[in-house]
Amino acid sequence: MGGVDKADQYIQYYCFNQKTQKWYKRVFFKFLEILKYNAYRLFLLSPNHQTVGNSPAMTYLQFSRQIASSLIDEYCGIGTRGRQSAAPVPSRLIERHMPNIVGKKSWCHVCWMKVSAGKQDKRKQTMYGCLECGKHLCLPECFTAYHTMAKYC
Ligand SMILES: [Zn+2]
Ligand SMILES: [Zn+2]
Repeated sequence: MGGVDKADQYIQYYCFNQKTQKWYKRVFFKFLEILKYNAYRLFLLSPNHQTVGNSPAMTYLQFSRQIASSLIDEYCGIGTRGRQSAAPVPSRLIERHMPNIVGKKSWCHVCWMKVSAGKQDKRKQTMYGCLECGKHLCLPECFTAYHTMAKYC
């Protein structure tokens, strides 16, 4: 019971709640505020945010401000952590890789993938390939395809 009272108190202090709003908007923002308060409680309980003494790691106001600024940063595309919009480019496409003798003859990686995908009939064995990638690749087509195309099969 005490927890609920305290939550109501916090939410009342901080809730964005204008009188002129439609009732469903008020419900929505109140609900959003409850979610934020729950997140704050969990934040305080998390072992990574414990402090020495009685003072919390962050006040509810600081917590709210941090959420707001993180959302603004992300919306403006200046967020430093979290999701990246593009997948990282594989090193095989940006580094200098040279054809080499990789070892004993084995299946060419690209041919193998193409046959598996049903885009080629035969797979070839080769002793050539890329040492950096550790892949057998037949020369010149499969080696070139592997190092220039994101989707080589
Ligand atoms: Zn091949
Ligand atoms: Zn390579």
